[in-house]
Amino acid sequence: MKPAKPTASLPPTLPELSLPELEALMAELGQPRFRARQVNDWRNKGVCDPDRMRNLPAALRRALAERLVCEPLTLARRQVSRDGTRKYLFRLARGGMVESVLIPEASRATVCVSSQVGCVLDCPFCHTGTQNFETNLTAGEILAQVLAVKRDMAAEPLPTGMHGQLTHVVYMGMGEPLANERAVHASLERLLDANGLNISRRRITVSTSGLVPQIARLGARFPVNLAISLHAATDALRDRLVPVNRTWPLARLRQCLDDWPLGPQRHVTLEYVMLAGVNDREEDVAALARFVRPDRERVNLIQFNPWPGAPWRGSPREHMNAFAQALIDKGIRATVRRSRGDDIMAACGQLKAGASANAGEPATAEEEHRAHA
Ligand code: SAH
Ligand code: SF4
Repeated sequence: MKPAKPTASLPPTLPELSLPELEALMAELGQPRFRARQVNDWRNKGVCDPDRMRNLPAALRRALAERLVCEPLTLARRQVSRDGTRKYLFRLARGGMVESVLIPEASRATVCVSSQVGCVLDCPFCHTGTQNFETNLTAGEILAQVLAVKRDMAAEPLPTGMHGQLTHVVYMGMGEPLANERAVHASLERLLDANGLNISRRRITVSTSGLVPQIARLGARFPVNLAISLHAATDALRDRLVPVNRTWPLARLRQCLDDWPLGPQRHVTLEYVMLAGVNDREEDVAALARFVRPDRERVNLIQFNPWPGAPWRGSPREHMNAFAQALIDKGIRATVRRSRGDDIMAACGQLKAGASANAGEPATAEEEHRAHA
């Protein structure tokens, strides 16, 4: 595992402040208490630039801009897929780039957030894993992704037939959320907070490659939905595909999943990216059948998103369907994830890869316009 740089000395950001913290700030600034609620309401709508908080006095707007990092991210690039998926590349105010994805559907809209710049782990099929780990995001930077996407949905509504409000948050962008535990927990607190973004825990999913002690702590504090990047059901293969398995092998993961606090009608998702000839064989069906607990877990088969220089190919679609059927025949609930945003490479780490290939190239006028809309 690569070491993490400390982030403790950064100034507070507007996205991460709770209502009581905003009230304390107003008291310090000699402002009436109701101003905290006004700032909180703007922020929860995605408006973080004090100059756009129209009902605040100018002096307070200036004070906010001085005291806080109001917008820890700026939009560097935005791409919209034919299927409506939107992919965002953000520049951190303190340097570094992260990506987020908005996945709209008829009954929900999901934002996929990043938790680190790069990743501390090295899963060889993952493009983020092959990039250098740069830094852990702060809670404010994680939340700022959600807020920026909300702002974008308000500025440019989704096409008719798609859900207009942000409903779900998944931690499946760049980075390993549970290797950045403090900031991820703090961001979950604000997402769940009734005075914050007020998103139900049933609508939040944390995806992890399987850091066993951190999974247990997550379940104890935030029983949100859990997704595990399983990708292989024998230690020999998982040691290769998900190297953290060498530290927390399948038996330890099994125990931890058995202890996960599952609500009624809920399940843990086991993610399984399908690599042709690597983990899509008959013996892999048998290994999954031994590992998976069908009463508590569901297997989600994911199409491999290729990236330049990737050492593997994805399993063909028909083979994925046949693999899913073989699991179903063994009593395992298995689904094939519909691929979204293929035409804009809306996958883990890939927008950033595309952007660094055009290093230094400014956003187009249209993208800039949307960034400030
Ligand atoms: N680090 C966390 C969350 C981010 S990755 C984790 O590993 O779970 C989100 C998901 O995308 C994981 O299941 C990951 O294995 C998968 N993934 C990574 N690279 C991929 C690729 N090239 N194609 C398809 N899925 C990929
Ligand atoms: Fe990191 Fe997840 Fe990619 Fe593995 S799959 S390298 S844990 S982001």
